[in-house]
Amino acid sequence: MNENKYNYFLDIHCHYEEINPLYLKQKLKENKIISLTASTNIQTYENLEKIRLKNIPNLYFAYGLHPDNVIKKEINDNLKDLEKIDFSKSIAIGEIGLDYKITKNKQKKEEQKKIFEKQLEFAKKLKKPVIIHTRYATKPVLEILSSWTDLKIILHWFGGNETEIDKALSKNYYLTQRFAFPEIKNIKKHFDKIFIETDFPVSYNGENTNIESVIKSYEKFCEKYDIDLTQIKKRTIQNFEKLFKIKL
Ligand SMILES: [Zn+2]
Repeated sequence: MNENKYNYFLDIHCHYEEINPLYLKQKLKENKIISLTASTNIQTYENLEKIRLKNIPNLYFAYGLHPDNVIKKEINDNLKDLEKIDFSKSIAIGEIGLDYKITKNKQKKEEQKKIFEKQLEFAKKLKKPVIIHTRYATKPVLEILSSWTDLKIILHWFGGNETEIDKALSKNYYLTQRFAFPEIKNIKKHFDKIFIETDFPVSYNGENTNIESVIKSYEKFCEKYDIDLTQIKKRTIQNFEKLFKIKL
């Protein structure tokens, strides 16, 4: 990267599989955005692989099976899908995790857990950070993660309570801020564990998101915590370089 990398906005979590690559390239360039786009199932992985082959600057990939999709298939089919994913092409394993809103079924929850743990195994083996979804499942996710001590963990848009947020930070997990949520107390002490995201194209408070919504997400963060934009841009870029061992 020739220009000042700290001028860039970093979207640590989004889903670009439906976007036209040329349009995406243009949008990232004109808005100075660096992104990490995540797969959610085998189809989105295949679409993202097509986009990856276009070599779009400042675009990175996380591959994995999302818990909402895991419950739609039999466990053996999920395992077969995992075999098809080339994780070496991704810098992280994601989006993976648990979602107890989508299912209350005991067996399905058990299957989600199995596939989640299987993907944590890949992350450990391949030494890649994980991006984790925890909707209505903050407690079981933290419990599972407590036995995976050497993993680098990003809890995306973590919905835990104050105690759970403290617990996550004490374990050096990274937390993402999606339009300045969830609230993190003493945020200035935790700048080395913060990322900003959009979860594009998932809407936020009934409002559609777009690729450049990451700018709004940074602005909301600065407004809420009374922080200088330049400062948080620099910190998130530094966090990215440190976590992924990538020099931008
Ligand atoms: Zn997501």
